[in-house]
Amino acid sequence: MQMERHGFQAEVSRLLDIVAHSLYSDKSVFLRELISNASDACDKLRYLALTEPGLLKDDPDFKVNITIDKAGKKLTIADNGIGMNRDDLINNLGTIARSGSAKFMEELAAHKSTGGTEDQKNLSLIGQFGVGFYAAFMVADKVEVLSRKAGEDAAWLWTSDGKGEFTLAPAEKAGRGTDIVLHLRDDASDYLDAGRLASIVAKYSDHIQLPIHVTGDGEDRKVNQAAALWTRSKSDVSEEQYRDFYRHVAHAFDDPWATLHFKAEGKIEYTGLLFIPSTKPFDLFNPDRKQALKLYVKRVFITDHCEEVLPHWLRFVKGLVDSEDLPLNISREMLQQNPILTKIRAGLVKRVLGELAKKAENDAAAYGEFWNNFGAVLKEGIYEDAEQREPLLKLARFRSTKGDGLVSLADYVGRMKEGQNAIYYISGDSLEAVSKSAQLEGYRAKGVEVLLLTDPIDEFWIPSVEKFEGKEFKSVTRGGADLDQVKADADAKPEEKKPAAEGIDNLIALMKLSLKDAVKDVRLSSRLTDSAVCLVAEEGDMDMRLARLLKQHRQ
Ligand code: ADP
Ligand code: MG
Repeated sequence: MQMERHGFQAEVSRLLDIVAHSLYSDKSVFLRELISNASDACDKLRYLALTEPGLLKDDPDFKVNITIDKAGKKLTIADNGIGMNRDDLINNLGTIARSGSAKFMEELAAHKSTGGTEDQKNLSLIGQFGVGFYAAFMVADKVEVLSRKAGEDAAWLWTSDGKGEFTLAPAEKAGRGTDIVLHLRDDASDYLDAGRLASIVAKYSDHIQLPIHVTGDGEDRKVNQAAALWTRSKSDVSEEQYRDFYRHVAHAFDDPWATLHFKAEGKIEYTGLLFIPSTKPFDLFNPDRKQALKLYVKRVFITDHCEEVLPHWLRFVKGLVDSEDLPLNISREMLQQNPILTKIRAGLVKRVLGELAKKAENDAAAYGEFWNNFGAVLKEGIYEDAEQREPLLKLARFRSTKGDGLVSLADYVGRMKEGQNAIYYISGDSLEAVSKSAQLEGYRAKGVEVLLLTDPIDEFWIPSVEKFEGKEFKSVTRGGADLDQVKADADAKPEEKKPAAEGIDNLIALMKLSLKDAVKDVRLSSRLTDSAVCLVAEEGDMDMRLARLLKQHRQ
């Protein structure tokens, strides 16, 4: 067999070009990315070995070694994780992988139109988002990946200078796993210093569950604590450590908005370390997006694709749960409808909602930020999860015709007008459109607050909720949304004089004749103050926006 040449996917070439020119950014993130990959690779194999212990052979202890070769100006990051075969190398290191680098490219496109030079923007983004494996090219002008997949005999050598192509060739390797060999650029030779490496690892990767050793340069030392972070007590973990751990488990690059670390004890025992992100992921509403909580059993990683562990409407929550009660040899299939998992799920939902309620009460501004990011997802829960409807309605926040801030339903009900019996809302595609609607005129004139709903999900949860604190939800586009019983504010505009019925009857008759079947009826209204006409739906008919949405989907 001989050497094969492959071109990088176009996006990878573009990414590599940016990475290579990131001259002034904090290059040490390459170490965070490569150690994170090594740790993921060990987690994957640890799981497979539960059912296939033979995969571990005589090398059961997972570890990461960072070896310094001063003379050769090389740095090697080696793991004994799952390894990659030929196809894995082509697929994983030649295209943009899902998380880190994909997010980076996405943000890059989004930031295109803002000010500053191209390079400055790219630099600040790399620091924030990381570029995964490709960060290796920030410090190296040549990268070799020597890998052998667990359970396979063949090893492969992947080589690239990061300039459009990589090569693949059969190779020799004693054990399983992956060696990433970095041929350091001249301006990166300071990474050949053991003390420097140790302090970087301590900074970014202290929470990594496996031992990380730095060898060479006359030393061999373990540079991290290697204890699963979530097993430590809260008081032993700093905010920074939580943040770095969050970035690692969630493949995220922002700071957590909230961190929940707890141990549930009693009939079933588990530890949870959950994070709510402070930024909204770009694929939040992508139907393929899976819930991303990692499941561990007694410190062993089982899966990060367990749909059972949190409901879909909490899919923005990141982190992990570690169960003491599930059997270690549980297969991913066995996780479905598992009674222990059902209990864990209920416990986690309660914790998350409890935390949100606390934040909503203590810091309304911060809670507003959360709501703007993830409120639309929580509303799915109102619709899907009858059991959580009450607490979720309490957590919900809305724009309304009263001011620019967010209001809760309790706020709304608390300031309802005398004689007002319903919670009025208007829904549409944008705040701008709904707040200009002629249908609001009558409500404004009477000083009646109206909620402005602009999320598509609003059309679904509203009909599923009968009442809040005894008050019905009512669309202003409904014919029966009757304002006559509401007493006008003293300071509100005086009620317009009833239009003279004379002549109006003729006009209405004329309109009915010309509009024919396009409308059910034409009626005289006291609801409008400035506009001449508006469209409304008949009481009991479908809300107008819902009808439009369904029509779009040909239902
Ligand atoms: P991410 O880690 O976000 O998926 P990366 O660019 O860091 O993206 O890595 C791309 C992929 O390459 C990983 O998802 C993994 O499949 C593979 N990979 C990288 N490093 C290793 C390694 N040390 N061992 C096994 N697979 C690896
Ligand atoms: Mg990675």
